[in-house]
Amino acid sequence: MNKSITCGTGRARKTPANDFQTHRVALDRTASRRSDRKANCCFTCLTCNIVTMDAAEFRRRGKEMVDFVADYLENIEHRRVYPDVEPGYLRSMIPSEAPLEPESYEDVLKDVDRVIMPGITHWQSPHFHAYFPSASSYPALLADMLCGGLGCIGFTWAASPACTELETVMLDWLGKMLQLPEDFLAGTKGQGGGVIQGTASEATLMALLAARCKAVKCVHESDPQRSEADIISKLIAYTSEEAHSSVERAGLIGGVGIRMVATDEHFSVRAETLEKMVAEDKAAGFIPFFFCATLGTTPSCAFDKITELGPLCNAENIWMHIDAAYAGSSFICPEFRPLLDGVEFADSFNFNPHKWLLVNFDCSAMWVKKRTDLIGAFKLDPVYLKYDNQESGLVTDYRHWGIPLGRRFRSLKLWFVFRMYGQSGLQAYIRKHVELAKVFETMVKKDKRFEICAEVVLGLVCFRLKGSDELNEALLKEMTHLGRIHLVPCKLRGRFVLRFAVCGRTTELRHVQEAWTHITELSSELLLKHHS
Ligand code: PLP
Repeated sequence: MNKSITCGTGRARKTPANDFQTHRVALDRTASRRSDRKANCCFTCLTCNIVTMDAAEFRRRGKEMVDFVADYLENIEHRRVYPDVEPGYLRSMIPSEAPLEPESYEDVLKDVDRVIMPGITHWQSPHFHAYFPSASSYPALLADMLCGGLGCIGFTWAASPACTELETVMLDWLGKMLQLPEDFLAGTKGQGGGVIQGTASEATLMALLAARCKAVKCVHESDPQRSEADIISKLIAYTSEEAHSSVERAGLIGGVGIRMVATDEHFSVRAETLEKMVAEDKAAGFIPFFFCATLGTTPSCAFDKITELGPLCNAENIWMHIDAAYAGSSFICPEFRPLLDGVEFADSFNFNPHKWLLVNFDCSAMWVKKRTDLIGAFKLDPVYLKYDNQESGLVTDYRHWGIPLGRRFRSLKLWFVFRMYGQSGLQAYIRKHVELAKVFETMVKKDKRFEICAEVVLGLVCFRLKGSDELNEALLKEMTHLGRIHLVPCKLRGRFVLRFAVCGRTTELRHVQEAWTHITELSSELLLKHHS
């Protein structure tokens, strides 16, 4: 309920200066009145018309919201996983302009049910098997709430020391969980270190820009007559033809040429192929400077051979960045850690705890071997960001490590999750998903109408009905139309393939079995129609 109370002035608006003063007095008086009574609703200051939800109301609504979210997540599997709405559905359901006068919280919540929920794709449903997982857990949600409550912006150490220091230590913890080489850790006097970026796309872009800066400097040193523009026009980056589109995009944003490297029969980039391209480009006067390897490609979860690519990049003075957005979480399990062998040759490495490590979006962990490469590339020091101790060498200013100045206190999510699951809990979680994917793979293999299209290494199974692309497209279309499970396709060697990713925190064997039953039933109907 909204309640209107006067600020105690009852005066009409005057000059802006008066306005501000009136407002100040009014708020002070309002605050003292509030403390006199047990208010549990919103107040409107009549002078300035600001509606506020006070602490008592926030406590009540906050508890309700926790219940709402817990109910949602507990019952999510009974919802249709993919929404049944058409593009543009929402505009006609809400006014065309923001309300002039305040509305009640109840009205807002009613519209969450009426307007928002029908248009939600339920990523946390155990029936969601599209893309890669978007991690979620209760400890991470609570940490996110605390982050919002603290509302601090940790762009420099001084802007919020705990925000900076916890991030550095959490990235060291996580680096140790992955058994990253010592070089990547900040420790107390290391040259490397970790940072939380928003997304893997940002991490790739940062790595590419840092590599570009380093390459320009290096060429300029040996050939001072050459202009920066001329050098940049000759720079060439490389990545797999199977790499995520964000890598090509980083090249476009960074204004450098980027070439796609062909993959072998396992969809992996091999050193021999890259070596030939580098030699060709050098002979044509170009400057190879950056290679983005992928561990766990988006279409089929393939792994570039970094044990052979790493030495090549090192020898050619090419910055090697590793994008392990999805697969990276699995490296905390000793049995999957060999997939990361070769990381010792990399200059930077990144993966997304927000995909598979139970940390809610956004949280993308990036490490560099030499943090000066990253920091030095984009360092600016305006007076308003200066503080004591800045030059002591003891502080980290994360504003130099990424694109935005402002940054949320995201390491709280890591801290809560690491402590409440423990490394053993997180490993068990990863292993369960991989086992479920193996179960799905076995079921596919048993049905002779289907084929497996790529090796199943982690929680992703690529499969298709033997037959035409049209047949598989029709199968996926029907699945999406019915909305009981949700999958997305990919192209492998030009063929239309279905991707079944184990995604949900609550996905169990029965969900995987139900999904397979649904897929086979739809396939039987489709094949019958096809042959009649
Ligand atoms: N790299 C790979 C291998 C991915 O699979 C994805 C997304 O699935 C990305 C990058 C992009 O991730 P983000 O949304 O964190 O930028």
